[in-house]
Amino acid sequence: MKEKEEIRKMEIPDIHFGTHGVCSYCGEPSNSVDHVIPYSALTRDNKERNAHVNSSGITTNACMDCNSSLSSTVFFSWKERIHFIQSKIGRQSRKFRNSPSWSQDELDDLDHTLRTAVEHGILAIEKLDRQSLWTLSPEYHDIFEDLVESGPFLDKASRFHLTLHAFFNEI
Ligand SMILES: [Zn+2]
Repeated sequence: MKEKEEIRKMEIPDIHFGTHGVCSYCGEPSNSVDHVIPYSALTRDNKERNAHVNSSGITTNACMDCNSSLSSTVFFSWKERIHFIQSKIGRQSRKFRNSPSWSQDELDDLDHTLRTAVEHGILAIEKLDRQSLWTLSPEYHDIFEDLVESGPFLDKASRFHLTLHAFFNEI
C-alpha cells in the first residue's frame, strides 16, 4: 500500500509543449505529435515504468518530415534532437545549392513542366533557409520559456524535476 502511494506521488502529468500548428524542430507547419522523451526513458525503475505504461510522456508538435527523421531513436537531450534535425537540413541545403540558379528571364524561357520543377527547387531552398534559422527565432525561444514555466519544471518535489531540466538544458 505504501509502495503504491509512493509511485502515485511520483506521477507527473503528460506534458505537451509547443506552439499550436508549428513544428518545434524546424518551424514549418506541424501535423503530428512527436514523443520527445517517453516516460519510460525518464526512469530505470520498472515499478515506475509500469505505473506510467499508458502515459505518452513529453510530447511536442512536429511536421511529418522531422517526426519520421527522428523516428524512435532515443536522444539523451533536446539539444541532440535539434542537432540531428538541423544537420539534416544543412545537408539538404548544400545539395540543393549545388544545383544551378536561374534568372527570371531564364525561367520565363522554360516550358511549364520544367519551370515548375525549377521553381519547386527554389521553394525548397527557401524552405531550408527558413528551417535553418528556426532555432535562432524568438518564436523558438518562446516555446521553451513556456515549457520551463510549466508545472513539472517548477515542482521541486518531483524527482523528475532535475531529469527534465537536464534533458532540456542549455536551451
Ligand atoms: Zn519539422
